[in-house]
Amino acid sequence: MSQAQSKYIQVVIASPLRRHFDYLPKSGKFASEYAVGTRVRISFGRRKLTGLVIGHANNTEVPKGSLKQIEASLDREPLLTETLMTLVQWISDYYHHPYGDTLFNLLPNQLRKGGEQNAYQQRCWKITTHGLGLPETALARAPKQQSLLTHLRVAYQQNPGQIIVEADLINAGHKRPSALQLAKKLLIEESSQAYYPNDCQGILQGLGSDALPTLNSEQGQACESIASRLGQFDTVLLEGITGSGKTEVYLRSIAEALSRGTQVLVLIPEIGLTPQTINRFVCRFTVPIAVFHSGLTDRERLAAWTAAKEGYAKIIIGTRSAVFTPMLNPGLIIIDEEHDGSYKQQDSLRYSARDVSIVRASLEKIPVVLGSATPSLETLFNVQTNKYRHAVLNHRAGGAQPPTIELLDIRNLPLHEGFSDAAIKAIGDALSSGQQAMVFINRRGYAPLLMCHDCGWHAQCHHCDARLTLHNSPRELRCHHCDQRASVPSHCPRCQSNRLLNIGQGTQKSTDTLSALFPQYPVVRIDRDTTQGKKAIGEQIEAINRGEPTILVGTQMLAKGHHFPALHTVVVLDIDQGLFHPDFRGPEKTVQLLTQVAGRAGRSRQIGRVIVQTHMPEHPLMQLWQAQGYQGLIDTLLTERSLRSLPPYSYMAVIRADSKTPSQALSFLAAIEQARLAHSNSGQPNNGQQGHCQIVGPLPAVMEKRAGRHRAQLQLTSTHRRSLHQAIDRIIQFIDGNKLPSGLRWSIDVDPQEVV
Ligand code: ADP
Ligand code: ZN
Ligand code: ZN
Repeated sequence: MSQAQSKYIQVVIASPLRRHFDYLPKSGKFASEYAVGTRVRISFGRRKLTGLVIGHANNTEVPKGSLKQIEASLDREPLLTETLMTLVQWISDYYHHPYGDTLFNLLPNQLRKGGEQNAYQQRCWKITTHGLGLPETALARAPKQQSLLTHLRVAYQQNPGQIIVEADLINAGHKRPSALQLAKKLLIEESSQAYYPNDCQGILQGLGSDALPTLNSEQGQACESIASRLGQFDTVLLEGITGSGKTEVYLRSIAEALSRGTQVLVLIPEIGLTPQTINRFVCRFTVPIAVFHSGLTDRERLAAWTAAKEGYAKIIIGTRSAVFTPMLNPGLIIIDEEHDGSYKQQDSLRYSARDVSIVRASLEKIPVVLGSATPSLETLFNVQTNKYRHAVLNHRAGGAQPPTIELLDIRNLPLHEGFSDAAIKAIGDALSSGQQAMVFINRRGYAPLLMCHDCGWHAQCHHCDARLTLHNSPRELRCHHCDQRASVPSHCPRCQSNRLLNIGQGTQKSTDTLSALFPQYPVVRIDRDTTQGKKAIGEQIEAINRGEPTILVGTQMLAKGHHFPALHTVVVLDIDQGLFHPDFRGPEKTVQLLTQVAGRAGRSRQIGRVIVQTHMPEHPLMQLWQAQGYQGLIDTLLTERSLRSLPPYSYMAVIRADSKTPSQALSFLAAIEQARLAHSNSGQPNNGQQGHCQIVGPLPAVMEKRAGRHRAQLQLTSTHRRSLHQAIDRIIQFIDGNKLPSGLRWSIDVDPQEVV
């Protein structure tokens, strides 16, 4: 039966329910008048909700009397292109996330809430051929209509493509009823045209003020390799050491894609989307650029979204969720710092924007470029197995040399609040020669531990298995896991002693220490606490870019993407613990971070200097890294993954659960494990064969209690992607078929970033 005869409309809503709902059309309408991809207003139970039409059907399981009519149609045209609808289906299947919720996740907030899609359309008028053929005096009895028609005729004669905005007609003294009467006589016709407010923060106009540097030969080859893939699907890894000019390759490739009349999507890690980054695009191009940053209002976000959808914005820049932006005519996707953890969403819909962008590129039949100085092991593995192409930049652009790297053995050395004499001297040398120094310490706050010297009591979070971190300014204790805050006691709550010690270093304490050691120089701290204001980080970075001798202190926020021209010396205070991180990606992430931090040194003037203070200079990863950099470690890290059958040599998912009551999450996961759903032939594990999934757990999380909830997880791996996904499907069915203890929460994370 054809769709026109279908009776029911299938609607999904933003909800954890893995199903659609059937509705009747409004009286006098056909089901087919509600097009797939358009939104509708429905009553759902006692609520009014926004739903989205996904199909039509002849049959329904809903009893006749309980069917409701759709209340209103909200869109004339589908919100998402067919490609994006297919992408939603893929995301929903792959991440096992309810379809409706996935779909609504993709939409700007205003549309999710039922707002108008055509908020940026204005009514326009144009004369028809019939109107052009009408003798000039034919409307003499209706002078108002006559004058309006003449207005449109003159406009046509000046430029046949021109359409006139109704607001301009009204400004010129014409009236809307005249237009409607002319339209009735088919002498003029209505059309609509998108407009974009010019004070919208989400849409910038490119200035094109940049001079082009001459590409070096590696950059030239990389650009050619990317340009040759335009117009088809391909994945290219652009691997270039820090400062090798990857951004320049992006900019040239974008120019090439724009010259072919296509749009370009650029994804940037969360903390990389700074005014400085955006400026590089604005200064290069003269096209409208849609920028999705956290400072936009809902309305501005919708404007930027619409501008991309209508093809007005040619370049679209944003963090993770920008991967869903509709484009009229996409041509290229660029993922900067593809290894960055912020591309994976850690709650609700747990997608990887990098992986989604690759699927999207394949659906759109366009290339995607993954850029990084420290590519993830998955991506490198895909290069080794020839799934991705590889373009390499091995030299710093503009002739700067890579920094020298020293592993400084601090065992038995006297330390001043964490700093060795050698590190202090190196910082002093950089400053007195007119350059800048940076201290990297991966802990914000003042000190990670407040402890009683007499009885050993220490400040502990009541809601988490974690210690409270001491902060100065404001002086308080804070939990970095649940943001619980407490005042700093003056006496030990256990033994009343007043000898409370702050132990260890955080960015605040290091800043104080350095200010005391180098009182004549500014010390700038950059971490989550100092960059909370929207503009703060941009202003601080600008100050640093002026180039006066300055000390920078910061967390990993400092490590990413920034280009500090006057920075010479980098001191890394405490990286050792990263190598022992319980997560299997710990070593990979630690060496990436180390490489990115080191890459900030000596980017233009002299050869830079990196000093890594460590208690284990003989650690094989440290040794390899010092000798050969990140590239030197790849084989070692991949071999270890292969031996342990971990990703990228297997596929992984984690089922997490948490509950207020201890052990409830654990027993929930134990029930799943005992149901033996991980094996396809229910019950019999057939070791090593197809259909087999390895289960680890259930295990309590490393931090078992967090924000008052007890957490546990079950880890699934398989060498066959399908087996893993089938097992997850069976587990979801099992969970849906059983009543959950109240207050228990669970989630599925496919390709988890962290398994701790
Ligand atoms: P990456 O993104 O690889 O870390 P950038 O693209 O930021 O490196 O480039 C580092 C610096 O080198 C920037 O100041 C950039 O303007 C400059 N640069 C890039 N390509 C060239 C080139 N071909 N000639 C001269 N300078 C260049
Ligand atoms: Zn005490
Ligand atoms: Zn806490």
